[in-house]
Amino acid sequence: MKKFLIIANWKLNGDYNFINKNINLIKKKINNSLHFCDLSIAPPYVYLNYINNYLKNTSISLTAQNVDIHLKGSYTGEISINMLKDVGVKYVIIGHSERRIFHHENDNFISKKFILIKNNGLIPVLCIGETEEQKKQNQTEKICIQQINDILKISDINIFNKTIIAYEPVWAIGTGKIANIDEVQKTILFIKKYISSLNIKIAESILFQYGGSINYKNIDIFLKKKDINGFLIGKTSLTTENFIFLIKKTEKIISLLNVS
Ligand code: PEP
Repeated sequence: MKKFLIIANWKLNGDYNFINKNINLIKKKINNSLHFCDLSIAPPYVYLNYINNYLKNTSISLTAQNVDIHLKGSYTGEISINMLKDVGVKYVIIGHSERRIFHHENDNFISKKFILIKNNGLIPVLCIGETEEQKKQNQTEKICIQQINDILKISDINIFNKTIIAYEPVWAIGTGKIANIDEVQKTILFIKKYISSLNIKIAESILFQYGGSINYKNIDIFLKKKDINGFLIGKTSLTTENFIFLIKKTEKIISLLNVS
């Protein structure tokens, strides 16, 4: 059984003060109490090592918000996959709409990152999803498959083994507009079926997350859908008390669903 994976994407937020308070509280209230959920924190690069030391001897893992496509060399300002491994990173977020929009990352560039991460022993969290305009034009499924196919243009389906796909409708990120649960379920199932048509085992090995304006008040219906195996969470992860409440609620609901 896949554990439900919650990743806290802090984006360009946090400082030592926030980390000391936030991580201490999470450790105190959460650590060792999770049996059905896994928790991972994605702080800005500069705090990865500091938080890694905090998280030693806990079940909480570390996620990076980005990586470069090069392993070393004259690439000023970049961070390599081996550097991320050195500071204890497990997952790497790629394809996030904020990087697509503000840093002009295209599908080909994101595909190269996906392959590099996977081939170097970390787990890519591939964000895919449609814009509001594409949704209006009923292009959600087409866009998601296109974003997956871009990876398949330069690798085979095995590259998806045990990876993470985060379905994040762009219009739902940071806007407070949550996607309709039936549409999320339909889209994730569509993607899963597409990958199954190429390789059933690989499709089964992928963990599917939903991301977009998740908070502790709106998670219940998402948790009841068996094809949604995790959340990628931005804003809510910055309010520690609410985030802890969300994690505890998730653990409780999933544990109850597993018993019944
Ligand atoms: C995200 O940035 O991936 C995200 C889902 O943000 P938010 O939870 O703030 O919508």
